[in-house]
Order: sequence, then C-alpha cells, then structure tokens
Amino acid sequence: MSTADAATKRHHVVIIGSGFGGLAAARSLKKADVDITLISKTTSHLFQPLLYQCATGILSEGEIAPPTRLILRKQKNVRVILGDVEAIDMDAKTVTSRLSNIATTVTPYDSLVVAAGAQQSYFGNDQFATYAPGMKTIDDALELRGRILGAFEAAEVATDHAERERRLTFVVVGAGPTGVELAGQIAELADRTLAGAFRTIEPNDCRVILLDAAPAVLPPMGEKLGLKAQQRLEKMGVEIQLNAMVTNVDYKGITVKDKDGSERRIECACKVWSAGVQASPLGKMIAEQSHGTEVDRAGRVVVEPDLTVKGHPYVFVVGDLMAVKGVPGMAQGAIQGANYATKQIKNHLKGHDDPANREPFKYWDKGSMATISRFDAVAQVGKFEFSGFIAWVAWLVLHLYYLVGYKNRLTTVVAWGITFIGRARGQMAITSQMVYARLALEKLQNQQRQAGVPVGPPNDASAAVAASADGRAAEGMPTPEREQQAAG
Ligand SMILES: Cc1cc2nc3c(=O)[nH]c(=O)nc-3n(C[C@H](O)[C@H](O)[C@H](O)COP(=O)(O)OP(=O)(O)OC[C@H]3O[C@@H](n4cnc5c(N)ncnc54)[C@H](O)[C@@H]3O)c2cc1C
Repeated sequence: MSTADAATKRHHVVIIGSGFGGLAAARSLKKADVDITLISKTTSHLFQPLLYQCATGILSEGEIAPPTRLILRKQKNVRVILGDVEAIDMDAKTVTSRLSNIATTVTPYDSLVVAAGAQQSYFGNDQFATYAPGMKTIDDALELRGRILGAFEAAEVATDHAERERRLTFVVVGAGPTGVELAGQIAELADRTLAGAFRTIEPNDCRVILLDAAPAVLPPMGEKLGLKAQQRLEKMGVEIQLNAMVTNVDYKGITVKDKDGSERRIECACKVWSAGVQASPLGKMIAEQSHGTEVDRAGRVVVEPDLTVKGHPYVFVVGDLMAVKGVPGMAQGAIQGANYATKQIKNHLKGHDDPANREPFKYWDKGSMATISRFDAVAQVGKFEFSGFIAWVAWLVLHLYYLVGYKNRLTTVVAWGITFIGRARGQMAITSQMVYARLALEKLQNQQRQAGVPVGPPNDASAAVAASADGRAAEGMPTPEREQQAAG
C-alpha cells in the first residue's frame, strides 16, 4: 500500500471522478493555491451525450473520450491517478483507491469533491445485462456497435425466415433522450449507410422498437415535444411501444407486459437497455458516515444546500451522485455543482468561508435537447420549445462547444459531415472482443471467485494496465500465486 503525496504543505483537494463534475472541479482550481489529486477508475473524460454516436459508427471512442491526464497536462497543480475508489474515511480524511491487484493508494485530503456519477440500473434485474447491455461506458458503446452491426451480418446468412426476422429486430428499452437518439440512429444506419450493402437482406426492412413502461416519449421534455419526437421517429419507421414493461430478457428476445396485464414476446437479437440509473455505491458509503445524511431510491446522496454532507463542510458531492430538488442528472448539473463546490474551497483559502452561512447552490437550467435523426432534434430552453432543423443545429453547436479539445472538435465536425451530408460512417469496424469481452471477463471472474481467488471489481482500464504490468496478472487471470492460494 502506498500513500500519495499527502504531506503537501498546500491545501489538498481530492476529486473522485473524471466525468463532467470531476473535470470541471479540477479545471476551476487551476489558479488556486492547492494541490489536487484526481482519482478515477477510467483513464479518460467520457462525453456521455455522444456515446450513441460511437455505438452507431459515427464517432470513434477517442473522439468522445480524451485521456484525462492529457487534458490536464499543463495544469501543474493536478496529479491524476487511475484507480477504483474502494473506501472513503471521512474521520481520517482519506480516500483509498486500488489499481487492480497492482497497487492500493491511500490519499489524504483537506477538501473532497466526489463526482463518481451513476451506472445503469436494471431495477433489480441485473441478469438482464447479459443480453441487454446499457449505455454508460465506452465498453458499452463498442459492445453495442458490435451487436448492432453483427445482427445485420447474422441476418444476411440466416436461412430460416423467422430467424432472419429475429436478427433484424432491434429493441431499445427506455424512451428517454438516450433511447430516442439510439433508436433514431439505428434506423438511419439501416436506411442510409447500410442500404445496398447486403445481398439477401434489405437493411431497411429491419424493425427498430423503442419501448418504455411510461406512457410517453421523452417525459422530462413535456407532452408536446415528446409527441413531436414520437411522430418523427414513427415517420422513420421506428415502432414506439408505450406502457410496456419488460419482465424478462433472454438470448432469444424479451418478454413485455402491457398495461392490460397481458404478456407478449418480442423475438429479437439486439437489445439495448437505457431505462434507468443507479448512483455509484460511493454515495451510500458517504451517507453511512455522516449522521443524518441519506440516499434516495437511486442511491444519490441527499446533500445539504451547499452540496456537502452533514457535519463535513469540506466533503462535496456533485453531479449525478447528488440529489438536489430541481437539478436533473445532466452535464450542466455536474458542471455547475463542481464550480459551486470549488468556489467554497477558494473562499476558504482566502479566509472568507463560513460553512454555516454559505449561499445555497442555485441551478441555472440551460435547457435540454435530444436529436432524433440528421437535421432533426427537439429542444427546450426555459419556456421555449422548438424542434426540427434549428434545434438540430443548436444541438450540434452546443455539443461541439462542450467537447474537450480542438482536435476532437475538428475530427467530430468532419465525421458529422461524412455521415449527415454524405451517408457513410467512419467507425464501422467491429471485432469479437467488442461483443464477447464483457461476458468472457465476467465468466472468468466468476470462476475465480468460486475458486476463492481474490478478484477486483470489473474495470476495463485497470485490467488493461494490470495485463501490461505483469503479463497474466490482469483481473481474474490465473497466476501461480493465485492458483496456489486457491488450492489453499
Ligand atoms: C448515454 C448518455 C447520454 C447523455 N446525454 C446527455 C445530454 O445530451 N445532455 C446532458 O446534459 N447530459 C446527458 N447525459 C448525462 C450526463 O452525461 C451526466 O449527467 C454527467 O455525465 C454527470 O457527470 P458526473 O461527473 O456526475 O458523472 P460522470 O460523467 O458519469 O463521471 C463519473 C466519473 O467517476 C468515475 N468513477 C465512478 N466510480 C468510481 C470509483 N469508485 N472510483 C474512481 N472513479 C470512479 C468514473 O470513471 C467517471 O470518470 C447523458 C448520459 C448518458 C449515459
């Protein structure tokens, strides 16, 4: 176990997470007289709003997930550590993170900003994940790309009519922005990019089904925009099934329960889950150490008006991990929360901070948007609602603005031009690793667990680092030491 350079003389800020909240916090402390340690279990800053474009072959994973340490290379007061945070000790003021089986690091802090976000929720049916991956990580997006394009390939060689239809049926569960965007892109991929490329199937004959247990599409954006989005998707051939609750997911398809209580099957090869989120388990860990702090049903920390937890004025929880009335789980919530937290830290450094009398966090709602297809989006800014081409252009500009790095912005514009003006997509390669790696890793880890071998949490980046650090030492891989241990 190592201890990070804790004995620094300057105020030490530890930030957990390199998403919107974590990166905003680090950047806003650029000129502050502090040392910062940013700990994240992924090496990159993932721009989640464009994950669906990675999944459908428009953008590469590099364009939406630049390495955090390169973004922060010039900011000399930050040290970036790759590691899974396993423990936060709010009495000792330390954070313990682990990089696979290679290293455990204990990092002391004076101020802590926790921006660990959320993960996919299957509402207690985690077994669905085997057949219906979510849309939260680069791994998810690449797996989906493999599954979507793989389904067309499998349909091309199917000799049985029913099986061909099954392979050409795509089901997206969850009609929020992610589900709407993904369903629209699968339809457009089939209609434009893949048209004419197969000999025994017509990609455009595929069924794309968007279903939700709720009675509307895009519920947070209101009835009018939801209906507009629904009509546009239907015009593109997407089937919308509302009031439809998924009760089972298996290899062959899904089982759905309708409002009248009847159950039916949808035979489909490719299923995507974009129906719910569950906050990082770090939320519960924090709440348990703070008398009077609770987590909500989604595991988010019910923070104080200054985004701290009771009794710990320098432990801030921001972004998708915080529960604040009126603040949605969106990038702006995370960025504004992080900026608010670092402002309090800066005030403290200047001797101006009085935790008991801080002005409460105020969220500025800048609106929300969702694309439906090329040239078509819906947007809501304050009381204004608009849709169509103008909304789509606004969506493009806004996403470009928030994308990190000039090179990424440039290559993204080029990729968008290729796809939206032309009909090609630059990222259509798929590999068996994309499709099978998650399940193969899980299987390996389960075997190791059953054998009593210590296995760390599944973590793409740390497993990769472990594998390169000492050959077979990747998470879940047998080593002589582990085999000996397992044998007792
Ligand atoms: C598919 C998709 C589309 C979206 N589209 C939009 C959109 O169009 N507009 C919009 O405003 N919002 C959108 N969102 C929501 C937005 O991305 C989130 O609200 C935002 O990312 C939250 O930021 P965050 O910093 O709280 O968490 P995240 O960005 O999720 O970052 C969490 C970070 O914490 C790290 N982490 C987690 N656990 C640990 C641990 N134990 N140890 C170390 N590190 C850890 C992760 O690696 C990650 O770096 C979308 C989300 C998704 C999934």
